[in-house]
Amino acid sequence: MITDVHTHFWKLDHQGPPWTDGLGRVSTQLAAGAIDSVTAESYRRQVVPAARTIVFGLQAQASGIMVPNDAVAAFVREVGGQTVGFMSVDPTRHDAVAEIERCHTDLGLGGIKLGPIYQGTSPLNPLTMRVFSAAERLGLPVMIHQGAIFANAGRLADANPLLLDDVAIAFPELRIVIAHMGHPWVHEAVVVMRRHRNVYADTSAIASRPTVLATALSAAKEYGVLDKVLFGSDSPMVSADSAAAALARVVAHMQRFALTPVTDEELHAILHRPSFELLGIPAVTGTAAAPSACQGAIP
Ligand SMILES: [Zn+2]
Repeated sequence: MITDVHTHFWKLDHQGPPWTDGLGRVSTQLAAGAIDSVTAESYRRQVVPAARTIVFGLQAQASGIMVPNDAVAAFVREVGGQTVGFMSVDPTRHDAVAEIERCHTDLGLGGIKLGPIYQGTSPLNPLTMRVFSAAERLGLPVMIHQGAIFANAGRLADANPLLLDDVAIAFPELRIVIAHMGHPWVHEAVVVMRRHRNVYADTSAIASRPTVLATALSAAKEYGVLDKVLFGSDSPMVSADSAAAALARVVAHMQRFALTPVTDEELHAILHRPSFELLGIPAVTGTAAAPSACQGAIP
């Protein structure tokens, strides 16, 4: 069974500048207009062949994006199947911890999406640390964008995944997923993963940067953390199908040229990682028809 741990939900009216300016630049490389609004129908199409998915909005006042958590919860109900919703909270808002408790208790959202650089802050800011503390207390995994971004917000110095070493030291039971393997700081992400048993990373978005992805996979293998690399797409920017195909292409290239290549078995294991179990997310008994796993030529 393939799990996609990194998919987005948003509507047009959740977004403003500078987010939309950055997304405009991204979407010129993709199908313009096709990525600025996610519907249940487009989502189901985008996540094939994943049978399980994690979907989230983003709340980042500094970047001009505010997806209400109630809309994420409603979207999860509409999509059905084995899709789990994560809340997003902006640490710079005074009610961030109250919102986490509300989303956990009232909306049943199963984790937290953070992007401190999008949110104009640092993971080590006390405002962000109180979010990690609440997440650890409630047993909620955190998906964190700790890497470069397309929007003009925050400071790159605050986006280095190395900063998560201090977070993991302070909150050892907190499960953390470093989105995009911390691109371009993939070595920093990998050494944090090696030191902390509850720190993982996902492959989302970097499929379009094959050099970064190949470096990330080789580094993860050399540091012994390839088994903590989770499959993610970054839908709607990248569909799960094209993310899996790009992974396979990069691995095939590595098998010919890399000093530390990834084997077919290791690629299969990344795609079929039991990510819900690793992140402590209870299994969902789906009501709507979910796409079946292991289709076609995906290894
Ligand atoms: Zn993303």
